[in-house]
Amino acid sequence: MRRKKQLDFSEIQAGAALWQLGKQPDSPRAKRVFRILELFVAGKYFGELSGLLSRYRWANLIDTDGKPYLQPPPDAHLSDEDFQEYSAVRALLDLAARDGGLTRVRRCLHCRNWFMALKRSDQVFCNEPGRFCRQDFHAADELVHETKLATMKENYKIKRRLLLKERERLGLRRRNAKK
Ligand SMILES: [Zn+2]
Repeated sequence: MRRKKQLDFSEIQAGAALWQLGKQPDSPRAKRVFRILELFVAGKYFGELSGLLSRYRWANLIDTDGKPYLQPPPDAHLSDEDFQEYSAVRALLDLAARDGGLTRVRRCLHCRNWFMALKRSDQVFCNEPGRFCRQDFHAADELVHETKLATMKENYKIKRRLLLKERERLGLRRRNAKK
């Protein structure tokens, strides 16, 4: 029996859009889309989210199978980047319209980039080409552990040194006292 989750178009499209936007996370359009996503995921559906969504204008179209879909109006004359932003937002809206539709949209535990957990439902690291977040995360974890250990050792050394100094001082005092 085939157990692998069937991916649908919106999930793939959202994944691709997030990946594209993640290349320039500081661009205004990436910031807008990520903020929309953040608000959806946080369940903050009103106020700021409505304001952000109001900048997009949609035309209601019907595809050849009779299914309605949203598209930027043909007269909007969007640049490629704008179109990309629209596609990202539309994909997210499609997902948000379903129960649990956004559960696979996550932030990487290491690089904090948004990604779509397309392969596994328990995926917590992005698997962007050229990035090794899972390995880096564990390496960083190990480094923290090692640093803690080193600090503890160093603290012990310092304390021991102070103790010896103090004993020496007391010893000198005692010697002085004998005089
Ligand atoms: Zn990552």
